[in-house]
Amino acid sequence: MPHSKIAIYPGSFDPITYGHLDIIQRSLKIFKHVIVAVARNSQKNALFDIDERVELIKSVLKDEPRVSVDTFTGLLIDYVASKQAHVIIRGLRAISDFEYEFQIAQMNSTIGHDIETLFMMTSVQYGYLSSSIVREVCSLGGTVDSFVPQEVKQAMQQKYQSKKSLL
Ligand code: ADP
Repeated sequence: MPHSKIAIYPGSFDPITYGHLDIIQRSLKIFKHVIVAVARNSQKNALFDIDERVELIKSVLKDEPRVSVDTFTGLLIDYVASKQAHVIIRGLRAISDFEYEFQIAQMNSTIGHDIETLFMMTSVQYGYLSSSIVREVCSLGGTVDSFVPQEVKQAMQQKYQSKKSLL
């Protein structure tokens, strides 16, 4: 396997949280460039559409030239290969993440050539943090300032307000 300068960080990012940003910043200590790859798989319950998620990630990471943001459809390993990359980054929080991630990583290493999945443990303060929890707290009017950057918070609040006005 060639030495990797690029890593791919795939996910839903609906929306991006400080937990994701922590994994990205730590990955940049190891890799020269990180591509945040938003999966285009159909998600019926998504809060933000793909373009909105990409825009939010770009806006939050606008001062980080070593990160780019992209989307992908189909098999992740095909996308990784198309970028001439060899490393997939995934974050691990609870033991409950482990089984699913283990399965996917095994599958990807079986069908993918020369592709490694690198797992990064969550930082202690983000161990409980997930996009779905943040969405739930925000939808119920709770404070999300310690979970997501300001622009993400504002975008979420707008979404939930416009949803309410539709009811
Ligand atoms: P997916 O639907 O692919 O799990 P997510 O956007 O939920 O997409 O997560 C993308 C990646 O970021 C996953 O590897 C997930 O484990 C990781 N991640 C999410 N939140 C955190 C967090 N608080 N700490 C560490 N890793 C996290």
